[in-house]
Amino acid sequence: MSKIAFIGLGNMGIGMATNLVKAGHEVIAFDVSDKAKDAASSAGCTVVSEIKEAVKTVEVVIMMLPNGKIVRGVCAEIIAEISSKTLVIDCSTIDVATAREMVAAAALKNIDMIDAPVSGGVGGAAAGTLTFMCGGSEEAYSRAEVYLRVMGKNIFHAGDAGNGQVAKICNNMLLGIHMIGTCEAFNLAEKLGLDAQKFYDISSTASGQNWSMTSYCPAPGPVESAPSNKNYEPGFTAAMMLKDLRLAQDAATSARASTPLGSQSEAMYSLMESAKKDSLDFSGIMKLINGSL
Ligand code: NAD
Repeated sequence: MSKIAFIGLGNMGIGMATNLVKAGHEVIAFDVSDKAKDAASSAGCTVVSEIKEAVKTVEVVIMMLPNGKIVRGVCAEIIAEISSKTLVIDCSTIDVATAREMVAAAALKNIDMIDAPVSGGVGGAAAGTLTFMCGGSEEAYSRAEVYLRVMGKNIFHAGDAGNGQVAKICNNMLLGIHMIGTCEAFNLAEKLGLDAQKFYDISSTASGQNWSMTSYCPAPGPVESAPSNKNYEPGFTAAMMLKDLRLAQDAATSARASTPLGSQSEAMYSLMESAKKDSLDFSGIMKLINGSL
């Protein structure tokens, strides 16, 4: 069993750290929020008051933080403190450029580091069924895998540093586009006199079928467990989707890749933000499309 530092015990981090404790690892936790610290302590972690204290004698450091700017600051503190024996795993969703720079900064001290963003949400974090998309060297990835298996079900090595973030933002850009397209189709069907259930029965077995329709239908009715049947309570918020779409557009600009539908999706989710409705589930974009926002 290993001694692991866990930095960032918010909605996602707390479930992940709890699973590491349950698997018998010793988890040293650090967060800037008192609420997160209390939750970590209740979950069986040892809570410390400084990053320095958390990372100094551990074999692995795991981060689950809100954005690239924060990861940059925390990562600099960690790298200054640890030796080349310690492995660093960043599970936060951040921009590709920062992810690559952090791995390069770690490498200057011969520290193995991977980016390992996740999908699966708060439910997946609590259940230990997350999908991890990893970028980094083969060696760093194979050292990390044993820990990721405790927190997730599907673990992928996507290639070199930053490729985990690439997989994550490209997947979520596609998800945003699918969701908006699915909303448009259900809304048009209804306006033309075809009810949601009938359209679902036909389209879910025809070529328009997609995950946003069959697992997460944005029209109330057809998929019982979908947020559309609970007034679009999240789930995965529109704010989180907007964060990932912005990361995708920034990356597309720097790679000079053409993503007109990704760009349009970002603009539409930013309307949810302007309307202060971005705490709804991302399938709540249906309300923007059908005029009920
Ligand atoms: P969150 O805001 O609930 O948790 C982040 C935690 O980091 C908070 O407890 C915060 O206090 C802490 N923190 C902030 N600055 C810190 C610092 N300098 N040092 C230590 N701790 C600090 O966010 P979350 O929902 O847990 O998401 C975390 C990451 O996972 C994000 O990058 C997000 O995009 C990604 N993600 C979230 C979901 C989801 O459904 N919530 C799904 C997939 C990926």
